[in-house]
Amino acid sequence: MADYVRAAIERDLKEIGFAEHIPLPQIRDITGRMDLSEFPTYCREIEAAQKEFPQIQIRFGLEADYISQHLDYIAGFIQAYPFDYIIGSVHYLGIWNFDHPDYVGQYEAYGVDHVYRDYYKLLQQAASCGLFDIIGHFDLPKKFGHVAVDDCSDAIDATLKMIKQKDLTLDVNTSGLRKPVGDIYPSEDILRRAFVLGIPISLGSDAHRPQEVGYHFNQTVALLQNIGYREYVSFEKRKRYKTSFDFSG
Ligand code: FE
Repeated sequence: MADYVRAAIERDLKEIGFAEHIPLPQIRDITGRMDLSEFPTYCREIEAAQKEFPQIQIRFGLEADYISQHLDYIAGFIQAYPFDYIIGSVHYLGIWNFDHPDYVGQYEAYGVDHVYRDYYKLLQQAASCGLFDIIGHFDLPKKFGHVAVDDCSDAIDATLKMIKQKDLTLDVNTSGLRKPVGDIYPSEDILRRAFVLGIPISLGSDAHRPQEVGYHFNQTVALLQNIGYREYVSFEKRKRYKTSFDFSG
């Protein structure tokens, strides 16, 4: 954790958030999710880092899956810790963890268009469920380069409208640049639609290694400014605040 914070300080970032995946004891998961028993330690480590590095704002986040059968558990978990922000994400279609490289072969059997259709249905439910502050990696099914024949504009617009209606924030996430698709989440086209709707954005690198902190932020901020965005948002204790794009990092 300290290495990530130091990387953020070196890159002149004003703040850094840690958003571990929610532990899911109900699901057999090989993606390296934290065990429920490890979470209190993780929480204490964040508090220790906040004391050790007063020169940067360190936020305590969570990436929570939207899984309709487990919403009571997810809601309870969110209540149990003093989170600054909750990212809501969809990683599962049924039991298929579609963004895991080991299961990428299942796209063809499922049908790429079907993947996108079903995914946006779930993402819309995630936006409407009332548990989350931010909607994570909006167009995740593109991760491995799968392109739908149907452009899904109607599903995308319906999902963005739900995000706006619920006053949520859209996660601009540079990790897709490190994946086969080689593009940020969400795509420029989707970001332009989001801007027209007046949807606020947060900015993250989804770093899984310290050297990925702030990955491609300069280019991404330039793109966001070109689209019209003048500020990004962050959260403290689930309350949103704005910062203008004037940092050099
Ligand atoms: Fe994710």
